[in-house]
Amino acid sequence: MKAEIIAVGNEIVTGNTVNSNASYIARQIQMLGIMPKYHTATCDTMQDIQEVLCKSLARADVVFVTGGLGPTADDLTKEAICDYLGLELVINEEISQNIQAYFKKIGRYMPESNKKQAAFPLGCYILKNENGTAPGCILTKQNQYIVLLPGPPKEMKPMLDHYALPYFKQKLNCCYHTIDIKLFGIGESEMAEKIAHLLGDFEYASVAPYIGDYEVIVRITAFGDNEKKAVEVAQKIKNSVCGCLGEYVIGYNQDTLENVVLELMKKHDYTIATAESCTGGMIASTLVNCSGISTYFKEGFITYSNEAKIKYVGVSEETLSAYGAVSKQTAREMAEGVRQRTQADIGLSATGIAGPSGAAQEKPVGLVYIGLATPDKTYVYELNLKGTRQQIRERTVKNVLFQLYRNLK
Ligand code: ATP
Ligand code: MG
Repeated sequence: MKAEIIAVGNEIVTGNTVNSNASYIARQIQMLGIMPKYHTATCDTMQDIQEVLCKSLARADVVFVTGGLGPTADDLTKEAICDYLGLELVINEEISQNIQAYFKKIGRYMPESNKKQAAFPLGCYILKNENGTAPGCILTKQNQYIVLLPGPPKEMKPMLDHYALPYFKQKLNCCYHTIDIKLFGIGESEMAEKIAHLLGDFEYASVAPYIGDYEVIVRITAFGDNEKKAVEVAQKIKNSVCGCLGEYVIGYNQDTLENVVLELMKKHDYTIATAESCTGGMIASTLVNCSGISTYFKEGFITYSNEAKIKYVGVSEETLSAYGAVSKQTAREMAEGVRQRTQADIGLSATGIAGPSGAAQEKPVGLVYIGLATPDKTYVYELNLKGTRQQIRERTVKNVLFQLYRNLK
C-alpha cells in the first residue's frame, strides 16, 4: 500500500513550523507495511487543499492529512475534502456532547465556532481526540482511504497510534514486525558495503539503512500472515546483520547509548564520575537522561578553565603549561583525577576545541581528547570531529559513551 502525507498549513509551507507530523506518520505506518511515497505541504485554502488531494488520490492508496481541523475560519481541511468528494457534513450528536464536556472539564467557555468540529460525513470512521477538541476521521473512496488528523503533534500522535493505526492493522490482513539495529563507530557507506547482500526488498521483508542522530540504523521490516512468522523472519535477518556488523551494534529499537551503558554499569556494579571541559556538562546531562542512574553516577565537574582543572580534578600545572589544556596528557589527568577524588570506579573526561574560534596551528577546531580511567588502565582517544560548536560537543558525548560502552563490554 502506498501512502501520501499532506500537511495543511501556511506555517508549514512558509517554513515557520517544521513538518514533524509527516516524519512521525511516515515512520509509524511503515511498521504496518504502508509505504510512504510522497510528502506534500499546502496552504490553508479550499483550492490548494483540493488540488493536492486530487493529485494524491491519483497516486496513493492512503492519504494522511494533518492540520486545519480546528474551529477557526482558516481551518478548512475537512470542508475542502468533503466538498471535493461530494460528502455532506452533518453534526454528530455524540461528538458534539464530547466537545462540550471537554470544555466543561477544562473550565472554559465553548465558543460557537467549535460546533463545526462535531460535523462529519455520515458513515465515516471517527478517530477520538484524547488531547484536544477536534476528532479526526477516516473517509473511504472505493479502495482508497483518506485519514484526517489534527495539526498539533501532541494531539496527532496519540490519535494516529491509538485509533488510526489499529484501524489499518485490522483491515490489512498481514502482520509486521520491525527491528531497528543501532550501529555506532561505522559510516553509512562502509556499513552498506558490509551488508550489501542483506539490503533491499525481499518477498517477506525489507532491509534499509537510515542515518540516525550520529548513528547508523538498519531497519528490518518483516511480514507474514501471522505475528510469529513475521517475528521469525525479522530475527533471522537480525542475526545475519549482527553476524556481519556485530562489533558496531550498540542496541535495538528504543535503545540509546546512555541506556546500554547504564545496563552494563548495573551488570558490573561500577560507579562513574565525569570531568568535562568542552562538553560543559553534556556528558553528565546525557547520563542523567536515564532513570535509575543515581546509584551509578557519583559526581560531575565542569572544569572549563585551567584553574578548575587544577583545583577540582588535580591536573598538574606542568602538564597544562607543557602540553596545553587540549592534549592527551590533560585528558588523562582529568579522567584519573576525577576517578581518584570521587572514588568512582570509572572516570571520564573530555577536553577539546569546539570552535568556531580557538584553533591553533597544530590544534584545529574539532580536535578533542577523551579520557577513560578504569581500575586497571587509563585510555585516551583522539577525535577529529566536524560540525558546528554544538555538533562537536554532542559528538564528543556520543564518542565518550561509545568508548565507555566498548570498554564495559
Ligand atoms: P487547532 O485546533 O490547534 O487549530 P488544527 O488541526 O487546526 O488544530 P493547525 O491549525 O493546522 O491544526 O495547526 C495547529 C498547530 O499545530 C500549528 O501552529 C503548529 O504548531 C502545529 N502543526 C500543524 N501542522 C504541523 C505539522 N505538520 N508538523 C508539526 N506541527 C504542526
Ligand atoms: Mg487550526
